[in-house]
Amino acid sequence: MKRHAKQSATQSVISCKFTLLTALFSVLMTFLLPLSLLTAGRITPVSLQPAAAVLPRPASDVPDTRSAAPASSAGTAETPEPGTRDSAITLTVELNGKNRKMTMDQYLWGVVAAEMPAAFDLEALRAQAVAARTYTLYRMSHPSKHHPKAHICGDSGCCQAWISRKDRLAEWGKKGREEYTEKINQAVSSTDGLALYYRDEPILSAFHAASAGSTKSALEVWGEDYPYLQEVSSPEDEGSVPNYYSTVTVSKKEFSQLFLHAYPKADLSAPDCADWFGKVTSDQAGLPVSMEIGGVTADTGEIRTMFGLRSASFTVECQGDQITFYVTGYGHGVGMSQYGANALAKQGKTAEEILSWYYPGAELRQK
Ligand SMILES: [Zn+2]
Repeated sequence: MKRHAKQSATQSVISCKFTLLTALFSVLMTFLLPLSLLTAGRITPVSLQPAAAVLPRPASDVPDTRSAAPASSAGTAETPEPGTRDSAITLTVELNGKNRKMTMDQYLWGVVAAEMPAAFDLEALRAQAVAARTYTLYRMSHPSKHHPKAHICGDSGCCQAWISRKDRLAEWGKKGREEYTEKINQAVSSTDGLALYYRDEPILSAFHAASAGSTKSALEVWGEDYPYLQEVSSPEDEGSVPNYYSTVTVSKKEFSQLFLHAYPKADLSAPDCADWFGKVTSDQAGLPVSMEIGGVTADTGEIRTMFGLRSASFTVECQGDQITFYVTGYGHGVGMSQYGANALAKQGKTAEEILSWYYPGAELRQK
């Protein structure tokens, strides 16, 4: 399976294991945040700010609550903490078509709980809280046309995922309820008011689930350059990411229909579909950027969207009537990798170090 990490469209022998269900699942799970970020507004990069504030450590370590108070006492209330910077900011969030006002800390609790497994290391969760706060501030200053009366929405296909405490606690069950609630409380409160800035503006703090060994630059994926969204190495791997490798198989007919709809000039008349695929262009990290198919050059991000792949880092193989994509990672690959953040935290890196790893040049501070 190592071969999936890079390069060419080839032709060999792979059986059809996953077809429509896999594709549908991938479409649902893959395009939520990534698509939203494509709609994000433009930041005009200027010059680099000096690195600044040190991220405060949490007030205490994560308590071992497994032998402490009963789980039912875990913070189910959504009352904001008084006197914090986050609690002084009220925003309007569109949730399931209805606008709801809440404070930044209330909102962020639900974002961190929805966007990252609470079992992750606390430093990864703190990095996620800062990234989510930053994206929220970015969205507040770059309103989305999708919800003109709300600053942000809970649809990860547009902004960021969000889940209520009630729903999240129900999913955690009794065992993890208190520990996880406290971890997310700490992730949000210990980073109160902290966000990433570039030229005094909140950055477009894109994040994704898992990269394929390296993140991708925004320029490569979205065609727009952001100085703090560049390609950096990312340590997560097969051992730490569920479904790090995935496959999607389609029939030649399905492939032709979808591909020719987007690229009508492509020539897919060769009887052996192995002949459809040609040269692959890769980035500096060896991840594919574009691929020649039927004589036209197709962007791997477009192919990802077309076939509902979990990421744009894939190879293609053809056998008989079946075409199989072998995919590595999950998400658009830009900005912070969530599994990479957890891997870095496990190496002992702090949230501040994780954030400066994935958003180089951005300044971490309170407004
Ligand atoms: Zn939105």
